[in-house]
Amino acid sequence: EAKRGGGSTYAVYESAMNQGADQQVALYNDLVTAMERGELQLHYQPKVDLRTDTIRGVEALMRWRHPQRGMVSPVAFIPVAERFGLINTLGAWVIDEACRQLSAWADEGLHMRVAINLSAHQLMQADLTERVADALALHQVEASQLICEITESVAMEDTRVTQRAIDGLLAIGVQLAIDDFGTGYSSLSYLRQLRARQLKIDRSFIRDLAGSSDARAVVDAVIRLAHALGMQVVAEGVEETDQRDLLVEMGCDQLQGFLYAKPMAADDISYWARHRGEQHAVPFSDSTLVD
Ligand code: C2E
Ligand code: MG
Ligand code: MG
Ligand code: MG
Repeated sequence: EAKRGGGSTYAVYESAMNQGADQQVALYNDLVTAMERGELQLHYQPKVDLRTDTIRGVEALMRWRHPQRGMVSPVAFIPVAERFGLINTLGAWVIDEACRQLSAWADEGLHMRVAINLSAHQLMQADLTERVADALALHQVEASQLICEITESVAMEDTRVTQRAIDGLLAIGVQLAIDDFGTGYSSLSYLRQLRARQLKIDRSFIRDLAGSSDARAVVDAVIRLAHALGMQVVAEGVEETDQRDLLVEMGCDQLQGFLYAKPMAADDISYWARHRGEQHAVPFSDSTLVD
């Protein structure tokens, strides 16, 4: 899966979590060095509005450009960072870097919205909200330009700690997206309480869309449910025009997938946003972010 997501350049670390403790420790040590050397980057993947065909924002995805091994997948190193207690440090860097990039885009006249992924450990940090608020203030970014993606399984952990973190983020005006929806076990009443802005349907459902009437029924029902609860629906991993056409028919709001764009470096996003704007005669501007 990680290979498909990142192309063949993704390196051997992929199965590190299935390997021995030695390998994991080695990866951990490399990761610490990587941070010090600035080998980590964020790439960004557009979320596209299905009705207007305009960019609605981007998801920030961590990349590790390893000098010997090439691009290392986050699927390989994030679980190790979580296990060895490095994820809060990595996560703090992501928060700051995403805000810095939002500000750099604003300087170019691009008013963007960025979604970052938060892991369970980050939500257990007492100062998460403060950290986010500090980064927004430092880079002079509006809270509404930042979306926090939390996987369904983490969001559904109805613990006081998780809930406090979510409340804190909402209170400062950051929006919430439920990631990988369909892979966990949602309580429908709890889903309603979460006050998430977006619900992202997991790639596994989108992959089966054209071939399976069951997958179609599930996706259709999820879109209706989300809309009834006032949420926008984002389809993850759209690769085929058939899938897009079905999603349009079902009233899905946004699409993210290789059909439109792969995750790319920040400069390429600037180019992509402008180029698409010209191509579709719908200029990319602040108004594309209003919702
Ligand atoms: P995710 O948050 O569900 O991110 C979407 C993943 O789907 C990305 O994989 C993206 O490249 C991939 N993808 C998007 N469109 C397509 C498509 O059309 N086809 C296919 N096959 N794949 C597609 P990526 O970048 O490898 O990231 C994997 C996961 O790693 C993310 O899943 C997220 O859970 C985690 N991750 C990435 N960056 C961060 C981060 O900064 N912090 C944390 N905590 N987790 C992160
Ligand atoms: Mg995500
Ligand atoms: Mg996802
Ligand atoms: Mg996913």
